Amino acid sequence: MGVQKEIKELEVAKLPELQHRNFRNDEFWKKIPGWANVSRAEFSDHKWQTKNSIRKIDQCKKVLGKLLKEEIYQDMLEGQKITPMNIRITPYIFALIDWEDAANDPLRKQFLPLGSQFLEDHPFYREDSLSEDDDSPVPMITHRYPDKVLFLPTSICPVYCSYCTRSRLIGGSTESVEKETYGANQKNWEAAFDYLMKMPLIEDVVISGGDSYMLTPAQIEHIGESLLKIPHIRRIRFATKGIAIFPQKILTDDAWVMALKKVHRLGLSFGKQVVVHTHFSCPREITKWSQMAMDRLYQIGILVRNQAVLQAGVNDKVEDMVLLTRQLSYMNIQPYYVYQHDMVPGCEHFRTTLREAVEIEKAVRGTTAGFNTPTFVCDLPGGGGKRHVASYEYYDEENGISVWRAPYVKPNEHFLYFDPIHKLSKEAQERWADPKKQQEMIDAAVKASGVQS
Ligand SMILES: *Cc1c(COP(=O)(O)O)cnc(C)c1O
Ligand code: SF4
Repeated sequence: MGVQKEIKELEVAKLPELQHRNFRNDEFWKKIPGWANVSRAEFSDHKWQTKNSIRKIDQCKKVLGKLLKEEIYQDMLEGQKITPMNIRITPYIFALIDWEDAANDPLRKQFLPLGSQFLEDHPFYREDSLSEDDDSPVPMITHRYPDKVLFLPTSICPVYCSYCTRSRLIGGSTESVEKETYGANQKNWEAAFDYLMKMPLIEDVVISGGDSYMLTPAQIEHIGESLLKIPHIRRIRFATKGIAIFPQKILTDDAWVMALKKVHRLGLSFGKQVVVHTHFSCPREITKWSQMAMDRLYQIGILVRNQAVLQAGVNDKVEDMVLLTRQLSYMNIQPYYVYQHDMVPGCEHFRTTLREAVEIEKAVRGTTAGFNTPTFVCDLPGGGGKRHVASYEYYDEENGISVWRAPYVKPNEHFLYFDPIHKLSKEAQERWADPKKQQEMIDAAVKASGVQS
């Protein structure tokens, strides 16, 4: 009986529609020459993961030895001259990279950019594409919507994504960008708490950054208590990419998890929500560890939602996005948003057209429960906020120009999003090469949209 049941489960697991129930649990890190002798217990330890995180290209060479092809090594060194982000990658993610095919690997793409894969930035890219700094009344707060704010208590992270939308401040200066990165410092948060206290309309605080993984247990508690004690604040969300790129911390850093649990309990006692928002990008990041970490958070009672960014070569295939959605759902993570890529520097190779986002959203919708179907949004350049990808006023697909409105957030303005030029027709690419024609195309699109401002 037992054997038969096992066989049945094995057969079921092979069905393509049930691929999302397979969580790899092999000792994949042992393929990396430098970690061949690292035991499962060591690899599971959050301190080991932090200590062995990769911070320099030379370290890649050290642990990979012959597995790192010389041309990839040279290309990664070139990448460092261009990228706005420093390198930091956990051994967990580093070991999940398929180094045999490093050029095409979706994890390598996200954290270890190749010089040869960068494209020229779009003429309308901005360092602060979402105009967060314009909507910042006090340091570390972005207040754009009436009842919700972003609070950025730190600007460091456990990994650095080469496509970070806040590359202007996250993760320290690089060869190409000077930054005023800050670590978590309790003293500097008082002004933010004071501001929130004085703003009775605010009910919702996103604690982002930077990454909540970098806050100490005491800081998690301090932020949680300070915010929950403000009467009008009803909901707080701790944002961390951690569950995706470093699940070992959830499993072995008990003090950190207990701090989160304590804040969650305090929230419950006040009748308020304390949730976690995370950031899985593609199925390849998901293993048995992800599932075990989620089991722990779920058993504490913490709701986790996911926000991914749509990226060429990472998750822009329908089957990958469907699989990701199902895997997340299976682990009790609610797929919340998929973002159209922001128009920030060093990301042109990652961006998709708006049309691609609309088509992928169409294909994903219907594959699973509606509440587990992510909303595809475009966070409008210039600060219009997040809008559903199909809710543009006008879309000139030939020239890659979409025109948008944000009736509540900024009623008297219009906003523009631009598709990556390399994905347009040859003729359109030629038009974009001419600054005079750029303006003509934009004026024509705005006129056709009927938006006045
Ligand atoms: C994304 C964002 C929020 C949170 O928005 P939700 O749509 O509720 O997730 C709040 N403030 C700013 C400035 C944001 O960019
Ligand atoms: S974890 Fe988030 S804030 Fe940190 S580098 Fe990645 S995208 Fe940026």
